[in-house]
Amino acid sequence: MILIWQYCRITDRMIKLHNTLTKKKEVLKPLDKKKVRLYACGPTVYWYAHIGNLRTYLFQDILRRVLEYKKYQVKHVINITDVGQLTSDNDTGEDKIEKGAKRDKKTAWQVARYYTEAFKKDMDRLNIKEPSIWAKATDYIPQQIELIKELEKKNYTYLISDGLYFDTSKIKDYGNLLGAKKRDVKAGARIAMVKGKKNPTDFALWKLSPKNSKKEMEWPSPWGKGFPGWHTECVAMASDLLGVPFDIHCGGSDHIQIHHPNEIAQSKALYNSNLANYWLHGEFLVVDKNKMSKSKGETITLKSLIDEKFDPLAYRYLVLTTHYRSFLNFSWQSLKSAENSLDSLRDKISEIKEKKTEIKGDSKKGKEYLKRFQDFISDDLNTAKALALLWKLLKDKDLSNREKYNLSLEFDKIFGLDLKSIKIIKIPEKIKKLAQQREIYREKKDWQKADIKRKEIESLGYYLEDTVNGFKIIKKS
Ligand code: AMP
Ligand code: ZN
Repeated sequence: MILIWQYCRITDRMIKLHNTLTKKKEVLKPLDKKKVRLYACGPTVYWYAHIGNLRTYLFQDILRRVLEYKKYQVKHVINITDVGQLTSDNDTGEDKIEKGAKRDKKTAWQVARYYTEAFKKDMDRLNIKEPSIWAKATDYIPQQIELIKELEKKNYTYLISDGLYFDTSKIKDYGNLLGAKKRDVKAGARIAMVKGKKNPTDFALWKLSPKNSKKEMEWPSPWGKGFPGWHTECVAMASDLLGVPFDIHCGGSDHIQIHHPNEIAQSKALYNSNLANYWLHGEFLVVDKNKMSKSKGETITLKSLIDEKFDPLAYRYLVLTTHYRSFLNFSWQSLKSAENSLDSLRDKISEIKEKKTEIKGDSKKGKEYLKRFQDFISDDLNTAKALALLWKLLKDKDLSNREKYNLSLEFDKIFGLDLKSIKIIKIPEKIKKLAQQREIYREKKDWQKADIKRKEIESLGYYLEDTVNGFKIIKKS
């Protein structure tokens, strides 16, 4: 108890975050002293999320945990894109959900529901906290229509045969909205452009349903039957649920070029505001330098990791080892190493949990560790350094077991590796002795006798696993 009280006392609220708007690390100053309003672009639910998508939600989970650790009350919205995202970024192509429906031989509504549930299950397996609000694009059609009407009233739109478009030339410095280099509009122009579009960067606010065909997801509107564009849904939901401006807007780094500038353009037009004050982007997960993309179809899902007998939290551990703004190069080998490290961490926690007989737990050195941990996570969410620090303290001979244990659980409020559920595994002395004897025979290369000991251990309900650091005794389940 005393220990917890002291930990709270030395926690200050300062957090530095890298803001894509300014391209700088800035001290977070929320609009409300005690609350942070956070919006994250959610999944497009036409297929399973891949581990790249999940990396982005893990980064946001860390952000949320750090904010809560700093005693902010977080209103966290994640949207579900269940309409409006087309197979091409250039406002051409099919709606991804309807395409998914044809593939799965289901209705668009069934597809959206199914992959939304699959996504929530993945989040749960990765110990990602649920947002305060899930917002579904199809539940916000009236708000999106109202927003578009307002843009029309303010003269930011034009109507062409396939829909109502936002005229980006009316926004000053459009290509530079996220502090990125001027957008390569020529590259956009090379892609087949919708006929009648004034500028390659203009985007659809409302797409009209093709004549003579019935779409599953379409709604009446002042411009005709159709559906809203993807870039509008986030502005409508975020402004409705969080107000404008709100504090933090998150997404993957791919959104820096198109989706987020388009959100900001609408917000500038409507509210003369950047929509959010801090824009945070997580870098991509790559495999052999190739970006993993849902639409390319060749993806690794969390289920594929589970099918290969990996613990989902080993993937979480792997993600923690790399800063969220650096590419994470995924390989099965790196996942295996992360799982080995997580196993060792669990063993260590189990061991100190068993041994923590000391009454007093808080030392000056322990407090220094805690302070360094807080500095790391407050410095743009540096989990990689914080994790290395955890290992350092676990090996530190100056700290008592109780203090190591308490600090580990404290750090785990951010890591989310569920260390508090680790049970003490009591290995009987007899088994430990047999394992040591086997080790001696192995060192002498007396394989036959070593094998007899191994079999004896197994007959008593335990087995041995050889690791790089020696061996591990495991109770048969
Ligand atoms: P989507 O379901 O495609 O709309 O993507 C959901 C989230 O995952 C978005 O924030 C994307 O920016 C992000 N994302 C997509 N691909 C990757 C990747 N390979 N690595 C990390 N994040 C990604
Ligand atoms: Zn969005």
